Amino acid sequence: MNVRRSVKPKPATVHVEETRWQRRREYGECTAALVMNPEANGAEGLFNQALSNGLAAIVGHHWPGRERKGDGRVKSAAALLAFINGKVRRRGSMRVLEGRTQGYRWRTALATKTLADGIRRTDPGRHGTEGGSPPGKQHIDALVKLDTHPSLRSMGEALRDEGWMHMVASDREARVRALTYVAKLSKEEWARRQDPDYVEDYLPFDPKERDSSFGADACPVCDLETFIIEEADSFGIGIGAGTCRACGYTRTPEMAEDEAMDAKIEYEMSKGD
Ligand SMILES: [Zn+2]
Repeated sequence: MNVRRSVKPKPATVHVEETRWQRRREYGECTAALVMNPEANGAEGLFNQALSNGLAAIVGHHWPGRERKGDGRVKSAAALLAFINGKVRRRGSMRVLEGRTQGYRWRTALATKTLADGIRRTDPGRHGTEGGSPPGKQHIDALVKLDTHPSLRSMGEALRDEGWMHMVASDREARVRALTYVAKLSKEEWARRQDPDYVEDYLPFDPKERDSSFGADACPVCDLETFIIEEADSFGIGIGAGTCRACGYTRTPEMAEDEAMDAKIEYEMSKGD
């Protein structure tokens, strides 16, 4: 039996594809985090991580293998910038790469001087020494511009992810706040809120108006039928935005839309069974 055969490594192309995908993702996630919060803790490290991966993807795209040093490790951001400076002619203050990929023309302007300045500025903070500072707006802008390159184009996706995580975290906080609030209420007060009459005060008095309002729904946090819907979801699933009058939980329109979309997908998938 040939033992060697059974431990054959993955084909090299798969490895290259994985690396490309990882670089693209790292660049996108770190840049999106900086755009959302330029003064984030560790902004210096995020800047370097985003830039190293972005430049490695770009150099690897045009000059495969040249993004690595002799020992196989990926070059530093500063070394990658120096390599690009040696390969691409300057146009004004920019080094411009352009071409045609899968039928569309693209053009990426690299503000190499600004990016090099960003590295100088953030390096001390990254290494824990004095004298550095987080990247400025001009450095982050130059970083974002790399996203026009066909090897990257990941920012839109990453920004959506970042926004989504922020929304879910806020919703979780709102739920915890509501539960903490309920825990502080007296037994008598909670009993009063459980009474079906309690929610009546929050519904329109005029019967006509009441018919056209969304009414009260079961609250996803405290389970009482005291969740006053102010805005319906656009899928017609019945997951509305609003506030619970018993526990105070508020579901934002964005969160309602997201939950409704999940429910809609689940419904459509169950239809296929
Ligand atoms: Zn509630």
